[in-house]
Amino acid sequence: MPVPLMVANWKMHKTVPEAVDLVQDLLPQIREVRDVEVAVAPPYTALHAVGKAIEGTPVELASQNMFWELEGAFTGEISPGMLRDLNCRYVILGHSERRQYFGDGDGEVARKVNTALVEGLVPILCVGETLGERDYGKTFEVVQRQVLSGLDGSVVDRGDELVIAYEPVWAIGTGKTSSPGAAQEVHSHIRGLVKSLLGEETGRDIRILYGGSVKPDNIDGLMAMDDIDGALVGGASLDAASFARIVRFKGM
Ligand code: PEP
Repeated sequence: MPVPLMVANWKMHKTVPEAVDLVQDLLPQIREVRDVEVAVAPPYTALHAVGKAIEGTPVELASQNMFWELEGAFTGEISPGMLRDLNCRYVILGHSERRQYFGDGDGEVARKVNTALVEGLVPILCVGETLGERDYGKTFEVVQRQVLSGLDGSVVDRGDELVIAYEPVWAIGTGKTSSPGAAQEVHSHIRGLVKSLLGEETGRDIRILYGGSVKPDNIDGLMAMDDIDGALVGGASLDAASFARIVRFKGM
């Protein structure tokens, strides 16, 4: 069983002082937690300050996005080297909000995943179906396409080099969650895919996170599922006590 991973995605929230306050509020509430890895993904502007605040703690730093080029005339973009400079370990790629509003299609996501892996960052590859796709019974097809295309051309040798997050788009920020059983079915499908693509051992060790309105009152049921190895948490991660309770899920 891989070590569970809980990732806080603060999206476009928090100024620098607010972000530092939030992480400083969180740290004492998760100090006693063992055997769960925690990462926080502040907005770019707060990465440096939050990185300083978590120095010497087991909490890892994550970025919410990244460009695939190493440097150059790409106004407004951030390179993998810039993220490594700030001690980022993880980078969220292909989040549905990036796919929906910023033109990140399967091809762009694959290039980003590939560059992150080559440059020593751990991509958190996000996949998930929209409400319409779910209603048409296309969940497995969509998720399969996004996983296969997201990893196209990438080499993954070990399970700790990649994280996949299954986030049904209809559940993100809506208060609706997939039932643990329904999420497990998709996670198990993803696990099978990565095993056939990357080998039995790597596929077994890769963390597959669930995301979409994860809250203190639904995390325990989700984490009881065999193939749910953690959560990518948006709204509930903006409150230190809520996120700390998610990190301290029952059953850990
Ligand atoms: C997310 O940002 O990835 C997310 C799942 O958001 P929320 O928890 O608010 O649904």
